[in-house]
Amino acid sequence: MPLIELKDIAKTYIIGDGLPVHALNKVSLTIEPGEFLAIMGPSGSGKSTLLAILGLLDKADSGEYKLLDKEISRLTDNEYARLRNHFFGFVFQMFNLLPRLNVTENAALPFIYSAEAGTADRARVVSTLRQIGLGDRLNHRPNQLSGGQQQRVAVARALANKPLVILADEPTGNLDSRSAGEIIGILKELNRQGNTIIMVTHEPDLAQAATRQLLLSDGRIVSDTRKETRPVVELPAARLQQAQHRRSLTLSGVGNYIFEAGVTLLSNKLRSFLSILGVLIGVAAVIAMLAIGTGAKRSVEKTMSSMGSNLLMVSASFRQQGVSLGASASPTRFTFEDLAALKRLEGVSRVAPNVSGRAQVVAQNRNWNTSIVGTSTDYQFVRNSVPVTGRFFTEEENNARAKVAVLGKTVVDELFGGASPLGQSVRINRISFTVVGVLPEKGSSGPQNNDDQIIVPVKTAMYRLLGEDYIRRFDVQVADAAALPAVQAAIVPVIGKLHRMTDSQMENISVRNMAEIQAAITEMASTFTILLGSIAAVSLLVGGIGIMNIMLVMVIERTREIGLRKALGAENFDIMLQFLIEATLICVLGGLLGIALGSLISVAISVFAGWNVLISTGSIVLALTFSILTGIIFGLWPALRAARLLPIIALRYE
Ligand code: ADP
Repeated sequence: MPLIELKDIAKTYIIGDGLPVHALNKVSLTIEPGEFLAIMGPSGSGKSTLLAILGLLDKADSGEYKLLDKEISRLTDNEYARLRNHFFGFVFQMFNLLPRLNVTENAALPFIYSAEAGTADRARVVSTLRQIGLGDRLNHRPNQLSGGQQQRVAVARALANKPLVILADEPTGNLDSRSAGEIIGILKELNRQGNTIIMVTHEPDLAQAATRQLLLSDGRIVSDTRKETRPVVELPAARLQQAQHRRSLTLSGVGNYIFEAGVTLLSNKLRSFLSILGVLIGVAAVIAMLAIGTGAKRSVEKTMSSMGSNLLMVSASFRQQGVSLGASASPTRFTFEDLAALKRLEGVSRVAPNVSGRAQVVAQNRNWNTSIVGTSTDYQFVRNSVPVTGRFFTEEENNARAKVAVLGKTVVDELFGGASPLGQSVRINRISFTVVGVLPEKGSSGPQNNDDQIIVPVKTAMYRLLGEDYIRRFDVQVADAAALPAVQAAIVPVIGKLHRMTDSQMENISVRNMAEIQAAITEMASTFTILLGSIAAVSLLVGGIGIMNIMLVMVIERTREIGLRKALGAENFDIMLQFLIEATLICVLGGLLGIALGSLISVAISVFAGWNVLISTGSIVLALTFSILTGIIFGLWPALRAARLLPIIALRYE
């Protein structure tokens, strides 16, 4: 049975000006097992085209190709890839070794694309390398070898899968005559051991080594001479069956791609670092922004729940067609009569009025700008703010407009450096106040620091400090939660009556319970978080585009590598997977480093700015998922481009 039978093979190229070039013109050829065939002819006569078609790197336009008596011209690209892996070993003029891999890894490359290769096969590759004199170079990189040594590695690679045919395209074209002689010697020895060899050469000397010489001219065979006949070699026909099995994706296969992707990234550290940086910044931004957003939301919720659920907040707003313009435009100015009336309402246990403003505060020689809140004795109970040291002011002090103050923790730190301020005097807007107590620590709600305030009696605040003659707001505490709706409904009419308001004016008074306020704030905080998160996501997008860019450059740079891998039996899916894994690895590394950096930034913000931050597992999972998706989405197109390259075109790419 012949090994290969070609019948009427034709290949025509249409060149620039539309003229057809018949690279092969009805070539028929039978190759027996064990032959050493030299294909010769002038440049442009079709030698390489014939070799590419014989090696299934290219398809003929017409004609038949029988491999071990089976017609294979109609097989798919992937079936061709499997046949190449099992039946052909290639030796190229340009060696085509992968610079990142060492000698052994290069020679074992075909195993990536075959299902059966095991440790015994790897050991065989090493012993082949030893036999051809590379025993002391096993861990060297290709660029540490001479041309002749590199070509020997390529021969070992061609032999790795025990091919039926070794195809060599000008294997000595880039070598000095001594190395050329050595390579020919190796090929001859391989042929003597029963290997079929097909070699393209234009040097008649080298062709002498072959047992049969084919001369091409203008795409036709013009002479075919056999020097000697080889003893018939038995062919393992079962291998044809074997070669058609689909190889399934294995864990070790994927592991191998990840390893190679890592080696690739390490081989160009600066570029890898820059592409990782894009994702890193994006993910760090996402993590930090979400941490700030979530932290703010949590502390607002905490503050809210510490205030208790029996609280109603009464404020005035000036509404026009449903738009709230805030308290400043309000026509309703609450009075002490309102306060008294609210206190008398059935079910109400306490009412704390509220006026506020900012003021410059001085103690000894220190200065601080803070918020001043004027309220009544009830405040400490309504707002869970019974002083930790000292006391709150009394109702008598309020009525007497006494100059007494209760300080928040931050104010104490700023003005007294942590020393006890009790009995000391502070000047608020140049008026001297005596400190009577310190408020319990509340923490901050996002950017708002709840400990940065001074509480003074409401009347003192209004008439001595802020120059206001009305109350802005009331906090109303209800004795029993069950009475809440009734009290909520009763408040507006009571105030409305005192101010002789019309129904529409009364609509400007808002009475909200904690649940409503909490819902509103939570919603605001969520919007804030989403906003921050989306801004950060944009930077991730930019990082992704950077990766796509790099990957496209990589595909172009590595076109010959892709060609080589396809020659060794890589299917389209293998090439796609390899590039996809590389892109994803960049993104995962960027993602992990980004999570670390983002967490660091969040912690720094909480330490230096005093904001509450919260890094949730959710945001970490989200960021990691996003970065993996970025890798897959932005890597997909370059990967598909790589996968679709035709082997012969990729190999010829300059
Ligand atoms: P050889 O190897 O004998 O030098 P080739 O097989 O490379 O010859 O080429 C045979 C002919 O086909 C030449 O005229 C060449 O210009 C043409 N040819 C080969 N490949 C292509 C291609 N991809 N596109 C257009 N023309 C091609």
